[in-house]
Amino acid sequence: MPHFYSMKILNGNTVAEHILKSAKNQARQCSIQPCLAVLLAGDDPASEVYVRRKHLACEKANVKSINVKLEDPTTEEILDYVQRWNDDDEIHGILVQLPLPAGVDKNKIITAVSPRKDVDGFHPENLGLLACNEPRYLPCTVAGVLEILKYYEIPTVGRDVVIINRSNVVGVPLAMLMARPPYNSTVSICHEHTIDLESKCQKADIIVTAVGRPEFKITSGHVKPGGVVIDVAIKRNGKKITGDFEAAGSSCLYTPVPGGVGPCTVSCLIQNVVTSARGN
Ligand code: NAP
Repeated sequence: MPHFYSMKILNGNTVAEHILKSAKNQARQCSIQPCLAVLLAGDDPASEVYVRRKHLACEKANVKSINVKLEDPTTEEILDYVQRWNDDDEIHGILVQLPLPAGVDKNKIITAVSPRKDVDGFHPENLGLLACNEPRYLPCTVAGVLEILKYYEIPTVGRDVVIINRSNVVGVPLAMLMARPPYNSTVSICHEHTIDLESKCQKADIIVTAVGRPEFKITSGHVKPGGVVIDVAIKRNGKKITGDFEAAGSSCLYTPVPGGVGPCTVSCLIQNVVTSARGN
């Protein structure tokens, strides 16, 4: 294994390529070509970029992808596609890109996706399995964070981890997983009501930050010497994309935005599609 500790940046693109290569090898061993169906609703430019990246990653891993774009759909129109794809044995993963346009019932859509094809890992059944320590698919962003820690051999056992986020997509599943073997970390979940976030961060060995609000930032002052920052957040300011962490003046290890957690999230999605096609 190469040694990384002279590096400051945890390069998500490198980790993403590594995951995709492994998914491609597994896809080769499938009796049928794995297939991901993606539904994009509305005209959110960021969503269009994410969906393009997902299709590109499918191509690289020799995974088939289907794309449906609906300009202004109703909940029922989306449900029609989901139902058709649930019943199609040649489709192994279904992804309805979030956010959905106003008026569409997000929860109805998430729960309509067959849990076995829910490669995003958002279905309550899959979150429940994860809570019972029998995960089927890990939510892709959470899997991406864990893959980065694993690839760069960042110690987690007995370490203090602060996660700044308590959503079902990031903070809650990540905290459950990191508190257990093989990670065995001591985890704190922080959020808007947390008192003195800075001093909690200063004691942490690993900070995972996923806030993404313009006024919020983590700076070098939040991070102890030798600390690690995994920045999940995506903030858009015109064409500029940044995360929560301002790395200036810091000597810690951190994931950049862009080029950190984002590409790993996409590769972990493709890995979930291949896992589904293999019948796991
Ligand atoms: P979310 O549900 O809005 O979660 C934001 C979290 O930040 C909430 O738990 C919120 O706490 C907390 N928060 C807000 N202000 C805070 C403050 N001042 N101090 C401490 N905590 C604060 O959003 P999400 O869907 O989880 O996404 C979070 C970020 O991650 C977004 O920027 C999103 O774009 C990004 N993201 C990235 C990827 C990727 O692949 N890189 C994937 C998913 C999401 P409360 O619960 O108290 O409001």
